[in-house]
Amino acid sequence: MDCIFCAIGAGDVPSDKLYEDPQCVAFRDLSPQAPTHFLVIPKEHIPSLAEFREDQEALLGHILAVIRDLAQREGLEGYRVVTNIGEEGGQSVPHLHFHVLGGRSMTWPPG
Ligand code: AMP
Repeated sequence: MDCIFCAIGAGDVPSDKLYEDPQCVAFRDLSPQAPTHFLVIPKEHIPSLAEFREDQEALLGHILAVIRDLAQREGLEGYRVVTNIGEEGGQSVPHLHFHVLGGRSMTWPPG
């Protein structure tokens, strides 16, 4: 499968990496929407949050813990975690990823 985020997870495509472990990788977004904007992805291919298996629940919990720790490491006090699902949800890369945005005040609704 030709998936850019699988390739980043495998280290075959370079990224501005913040963190990596056997299960996930975090890297800065190419097109940042806030002073701090990074993505956290599982290394294994999961299309979106709408499609994960029961045996992947621990992996998702691990990713949330990584997000918490990286946000703290980046010095973010308040921040936003977003995962877009499907075309109508604004998802452009069909490999599960969590956006972490911070360093400015966020508005609501996100639009
Ligand atoms: P989404 O629209 O929610 O699927 O988000 C995809 C995000 O991936 C966008 O914010 C893009 O800027 C970002 N992106 C796409 N390709 C890369 C890449 N090679 N390295 C870093 N960020 C990327």
